Amino acid sequence: MAKGLIHSFESFSTLDGPGIRYVVFLSGCFFRCVFCHNVDMVESLPGTYKEYSVAEVVEKINRARPYFVRSGGGVTLSGGEPFFQFNFIRELLSEFKREGIHTAVDTCLYTSSQQIKEVSEWVDLFLVGLKHIDTRKHKQLTGRNNDLILENISYLNSLKKPFWLRYVVIPGITSDKGDIRRLAEFLAQFSSLQGVDLLPYHRLGIKKWQAMNKEYTLSCAKPPTEEEMEEVKLAFRAINLPVLAC
Ligand code: SF4
Repeated sequence: MAKGLIHSFESFSTLDGPGIRYVVFLSGCFFRCVFCHNVDMVESLPGTYKEYSVAEVVEKINRARPYFVRSGGGVTLSGGEPFFQFNFIRELLSEFKREGIHTAVDTCLYTSSQQIKEVSEWVDLFLVGLKHIDTRKHKQLTGRNNDLILENISYLNSLKKPFWLRYVVIPGITSDKGDIRRLAEFLAQFSSLQGVDLLPYHRLGIKKWQAMNKEYTLSCAKPPTEEEMEEVKLAFRAINLPVLAC
């Protein structure tokens, strides 16, 4: 059985899918986002993770099962990037499904369509984090182009897999009106889109960068005001996209 590198667990999240979520934060990521709020989960450095077997994770989560099941919740794999440890999450997700647990995967979908297909039958909801609709700006923010991600969003839709689109609103960086309109129009074609989850940029992760002696190059960015968030929400609502409440 595969072993996974896990940074941490959070047993009571109300933000990472429906109901109360037990969140598993996996170590490792394909991206190097300049605004990463979990930078301690990106590189799998010694001391930042522990190894767990699938059985150990399932046992741990089963102990907390009554309270998240009662709330209509379940388990969310997050990170880092869950697909970075594909063999481990494949086994983990199939075990959760065998146990009848609702599953969500918080992912950038920077992976092959084959891998998405292999796990999709065990995933109830994908939480797709798209960092930018413009591929050049996406590369500036993450180090990678977004073409594969956009293709995989279409692919998820063709599999009829429900998904939320998660988007971090950073004034002056991801909030340009033209880019937001383009993103909204791109999303409007997908019948499996169940929610647009707009996340206001925050600076809480900066202390992790400092603790790791890494330079935070986005130090001039500011969190959006309520008005700025409202303006972005309106652009999605204007074409009837389901914006989730923050
Ligand atoms: S995809 Fe997420 S975890 Fe990975 S670098 Fe970007 S913000 Fe950090």
